[in-house]
Amino acid sequence: MDAFRSRLGAVGRWLLPPRCLLCGDPGHEDLDLCRDCAAELPRNASCCARCALPLPLPAALCGRCQRDPPPWEAAWAPFRYGWPLDRLEARFKFGRDLAAGRSLVALWRGQSRPLALPEVVVPVPLHRARLRQRGYNQALELARPLARALGVPLRHDLLVRTRSTAAQSELDAPTRRRNVRGAFVLRAAVPLPSHVAVLDDVMTTGATLAECARVLKRAGVVRVDVWALARAPSARR
Ligand SMILES: [Zn+2]
Ligand SMILES: [Zn+2]
Repeated sequence: MDAFRSRLGAVGRWLLPPRCLLCGDPGHEDLDLCRDCAAELPRNASCCARCALPLPLPAALCGRCQRDPPPWEAAWAPFRYGWPLDRLEARFKFGRDLAAGRSLVALWRGQSRPLALPEVVVPVPLHRARLRQRGYNQALELARPLARALGVPLRHDLLVRTRSTAAQSELDAPTRRRNVRGAFVLRAAVPLPSHVAVLDDVMTTGATLAECARVLKRAGVVRVDVWALARAPSARR
């Protein structure tokens, strides 16, 4: 099926060469973005190594991580959440625009990868009601090609979201934490790897990723990392 889809994609690209999703110019290197728009995407080059919070200078730990360390080991979030990436992300997440999703993955794949790769990548699961409504899990759609490119197995059956939670974007940080508490469980009787990366599309306060990390660590996973395409600049955890 995948081979068929990629052949179909190749034919589609021959008939319709890629155009920039943001400005309409010809796409650059098979991306649905032109060179200028791709260069404008905000990179998260200097950040906290632990939580990926954007900082003026790179640091091992930001002030907040020193005071209150998160339940994961390291974060990988190569972009900052802002113009024009937020537009692509909104089209991908809410507009069923899978071309935007493909471009986001292509951008992510092109970034320098973490030194310590996990044994498996686990996308943050959607509740089945949300999945029915949206038709796809945006974290899984990003995780699948990224994991393949990194040569790391994908496990989307490890965690289950048992509660449909209110949309996090509407909430402040303490409410976000409460909102996701107890929302995930481990699928029973699956053997656990010792090093897992949990992947989400955007990391805002990190509340969702932290809750997933806690569940995995309580079950005996030794090291959890968190991966997100983009990190919001200054939300509180
Ligand atoms: Zn453009
Ligand atoms: Zn930090």
